[in-house]
Amino acid sequence: MTIKNNRRPWIGGNWKMFKTIPEALDTFQELKAGLPDPLQAEVIIAPPFTALSALARVIQDGPVRLAAQNVHWAEDGAFTGEISTRMLVDVGCTYCLIGHSERRHVFGETDNQVHQKLATCLKTGLKPVLCLGETLEEREEGRIQAVIERQLLKAVEGVSPEDMARGVVAYEPVWAIGTGRSATPAQAQEVHAFIRGLLQTRFNKTLALETRIVYGGSVTPDNIRDLRSQTDIDGALVGGASLKADKFLALIKEVNQ
Ligand code: PEP
Repeated sequence: MTIKNNRRPWIGGNWKMFKTIPEALDTFQELKAGLPDPLQAEVIIAPPFTALSALARVIQDGPVRLAAQNVHWAEDGAFTGEISTRMLVDVGCTYCLIGHSERRHVFGETDNQVHQKLATCLKTGLKPVLCLGETLEEREEGRIQAVIERQLLKAVEGVSPEDMARGVVAYEPVWAIGTGRSATPAQAQEVHAFIRGLLQTRFNKTLALETRIVYGGSVTPDNIRDLRSQTDIDGALVGGASLKADKFLALIKEVNQ
């Protein structure tokens, strides 16, 4: 396994709004049976809310950890249809995706809401997976760094280095998610290095060197090796290719070596 600067590789499968409870359990059992041994990478699955409880029972103390795909920022209250961080911890989640591009662009989530969600996760003990990424228009207008900087700095407003150390950052260019058009390794590396630089300026060098920054956006068994070989790419957040256990296992094996 390639450990870069002591950063343990990390790979997450975002199952989005796919899979009933039996389907989620079947995929998990297949996944579990095929995991590499030794497994040194951190492996996370983010199923729909409805499957969290059933998966928590079978995952137990095994190596795979559960993530939620979203959360509300308030600790509790009259928010019909929403789920709190305490509920996610209670059901067995370790991580929570925050600011996924579908939340930002389909559901209109703002930088400030992302910030509030991140803060509430940290307060409750849930580890945030902070998703950042520019649209194609923003890329073409040369605004990648401005967008990433705005999203990151707002999200971590008031966050201490100790708290930030519990999180993972995912660079997920919006134009690459679910499109079959991944960023090239060089494009991804450039932004990952920029994010690491921002972490150093905002927090400190140690935090910047220790934070896992993972790439997401049409990752497949065909492109993972080249992406992963980049200095600042510590793993992947995977949507479509995580839905089938055999494909996700092929990705896990690449990240694990
Ligand atoms: C995602 O949903 O985070 C994602 C990266 O999706 P996909 O791998 O399908 O592009």
